Amino acid sequence: MAAVRRAWIGLGANLGDPPAQIAAALAALAAEPRLTVIARSRFWRSTAIGPQPQPDYCNAVAALETTITPEVLLARLQDFEDAAGRTREQRWGARVLDLDLLHVEGVRRRTTRLTLPHPQIARRAFVLVPWSEIAPRLVVPGVGEIGRLAEACDRSGLEPWPPSADG
Ligand code: AMP
Repeated sequence: MAAVRRAWIGLGANLGDPPAQIAAALAALAAEPRLTVIARSRFWRSTAIGPQPQPDYCNAVAALETTITPEVLLARLQDFEDAAGRTREQRWGARVLDLDLLHVEGVRRRTTRLTLPHPQIARRAFVLVPWSEIAPRLVVPGVGEIGRLAEACDRSGLEPWPPSADG
């Protein structure tokens, strides 16, 4: 039987109705066979990085337990992005849905398609702060303890999404 592993997903959207798209992506994940969503952060608003002007992002992090391999999980995340209407025109451009595989317990990868842990984790407040709400004591190999990294990161441009919109 395939091993059950814990995995963490970063969700982001800044086109259309961002919190609705994050909520829909969480629902799609929850409906996926061989995968259970065990926790999710609040929704956060962050200033976009990359080409400007761009609308603010809605961000969240979810914890999963799954028997799906990391490569297949990434492919499913890309299916969800495509189904949401994602186009891949501009690096760091605005997007209806961005799903990143942040970390899979016990797994390291460095292939052309998949790097694990995700290489940008330690720098991004919009990942670290939501992630620290659900996994503050998690130590990601080569990266650090999520709660400590969240405390140390630059939170400018990051605030909780107004609670009424929080899925
Ligand atoms: P993005 O613009 O952030 O959606 O980048 C997606 C690209 O990054 C795809 O070509 C993925 O194959 C690649 N990639 C590598 N590692 C990861 C990861 N851990 N999570 C998501 N995408 C990844």
